[in-house]
Amino acid sequence: MFCKIVSGDVPATIVRETETTVAFRDINPQAPTHVLVIPRLHHPDAASLAAAAPEVAADILREAGNVAADEKLVETGYRVVFNTGSGAGQTVFHAHAHILGGRGMQWPPG
Ligand code: AMP
Repeated sequence: MFCKIVSGDVPATIVRETETTVAFRDINPQAPTHVLVIPRLHHPDAASLAAAAPEVAADILREAGNVAADEKLVETGYRVVFNTGSGAGQTVFHAHAHILGGRGMQWPPG
């Protein structure tokens, strides 16, 4: 599914793009700002991506910060989440960072 967003075959509200990453709004937002940052390369989760292409994993984190700055979340704070495995709520097995902000966040997360 996310490979099809990268290729343009599935539409998405893209907010940022780099040579290695695409950032777009989550279709089912869980906060006023909810953006996903994905690698153009397909890897099933963040750990697999980091093992195979650490420079692209770093690009995802850099873009997470750039999304937060663009969305004016830096002062109020934001959360970056990599759900890993279905037991942790992962439903799409193409590595992605969730950037969530614009409301108070609970800790520990549910
Ligand atoms: P996860 O549950 O961590 O695997 O996150 C997958 C996320 O992808 C969920 O928050 C979904 O709402 C989101 N999602 C699924 N399909 C799309 C899509 N076509 N465009 C945007 N977000 C999507």
